[in-house]
Amino acid sequence: MSSVEITTDVLIIGAGPSGAVAAGLLRKKGWDVLVLEKQHFPRFSIGESLLPQCMAFVAEAGMTEAVEAGGFQYKNGAAFHHAGRDTAFDFREKFSHGPGTTFQVERARFDQILAGEAEKAGADVRFGHEIVAVDFESDRPRVDVQTDEGGACQVSARFVLDASGFGRVLPRFLDLETPSSFPVRMSLFTHVEDRIDAADHDRDKILITVHPEHRDVWYWLIPFGNGRSSLGVVARPEFVERHQGNAGQRLWQIVHQDPNLARLLANAQWDTPAREIRGYSANVKQLWGRHFALLGNAAEFLDPVFSSGVTIAMKSASLAANLLDRQLRGEIVDWEKDFARPLKQGVDTFRTYVDGWYDGSFQDVIFAENPSVPVREMISSILAGYAWDTDNPYVSESRRRLRVLAELCRG
Ligand code: FAD
Repeated sequence: MSSVEITTDVLIIGAGPSGAVAAGLLRKKGWDVLVLEKQHFPRFSIGESLLPQCMAFVAEAGMTEAVEAGGFQYKNGAAFHHAGRDTAFDFREKFSHGPGTTFQVERARFDQILAGEAEKAGADVRFGHEIVAVDFESDRPRVDVQTDEGGACQVSARFVLDASGFGRVLPRFLDLETPSSFPVRMSLFTHVEDRIDAADHDRDKILITVHPEHRDVWYWLIPFGNGRSSLGVVARPEFVERHQGNAGQRLWQIVHQDPNLARLLANAQWDTPAREIRGYSANVKQLWGRHFALLGNAAEFLDPVFSSGVTIAMKSASLAANLLDRQLRGEIVDWEKDFARPLKQGVDTFRTYVDGWYDGSFQDVIFAENPSVPVREMISSILAGYAWDTDNPYVSESRRRLRVLAELCRG
């Protein structure tokens, strides 16, 4: 096994959305960027429904044109269904400024486009390279890398951004992991040729369905542009395990417990093996340290219900890249004040609404009849990902506002 030594300004671990956007931004500022990605792209990833807020970070990284040219399914909102009741939020009707539309994406292709844009911007992106050990003791961090062709190398960098997603490279090696406050949930999901011809189905929106009997069980239906859809269910493992068979058979049974989904998908071709993921909620003790910061899912992951994962990942990339640029130019910067705190502010906003989803209060708000238009626009903003807009009272005082609003809706 031959071992070579590479030096760079910034090493980014992982070429998913947070890694690619951080790489693009740092290249725009002129830094040497090496991105090491364990897998080869295109590769499957879950997380297919984007939020309009993330388009601002795609634009900041100069990647809008490439994403728009990708031919992905346009998305302008979220539709909700529970036991015969329907409601929908149009993200263009929102309180916050910023994009009101986005896309529903096959992540294999979307992530490949972003990584390709980072490469075009001059980042050195290497696939089939896995980080297997790290050393943050000396003045320059060093990592050991193994390639899937049997090679090895060492990288020394001025700073490391961990964008390794559920790989959670630095949290594992530096003992930063801490349990999530969310209970263990699991998800079963697949792609189907949906063959939906129902006139009431809006392909421009994600459809979130609450299970008719169990309000903590919910489904996503994310239409793509090619007649296919991503279909999944989220539930506690005890619920899923009450059903017989493999992941696909269990998913099929649970989907058919909802009459509306059963109707929409009556002609669907279930042609792809289902996958299963469990215990994905994760947290860390700290978001940064000497010579490193954690991006996206390598830091905290809450819950998939509001499709906030890619948006949070890109927000963390934007905050980190801008701060790191200042640090590399010699400025004394404060990672707690200018990275961790602002990032957590939005994550905590999402946390309020995720908690409210599972305790039922936010579901009551979403399905409320005759809500006031201004309040609905503020809620629409949050669902569109504008969780950092503290001008929105449902962001700045999220817990109190949600409690009061839920009481009003129930009343
Ligand atoms: P990732 O996209 O996971 O990228 C990390 C990359 O790092 C991977 O390519 C991986 O191969 C690489 N890597 C890992 N370990 C190593 C290593 N040792 N060395 C080198 N490379 C490594 N989000 C949404 O926005 N919308 C949704 O609809 C949505 N639905 C979801 C549904 C479910 C069931 C779940 C669990 C999550 C969902 N998410 C959704 C969240 C979304 O998947 C993630 O938040 C998002 O992919 C995070 O991006 P990232 O860049 O942090 O990491």
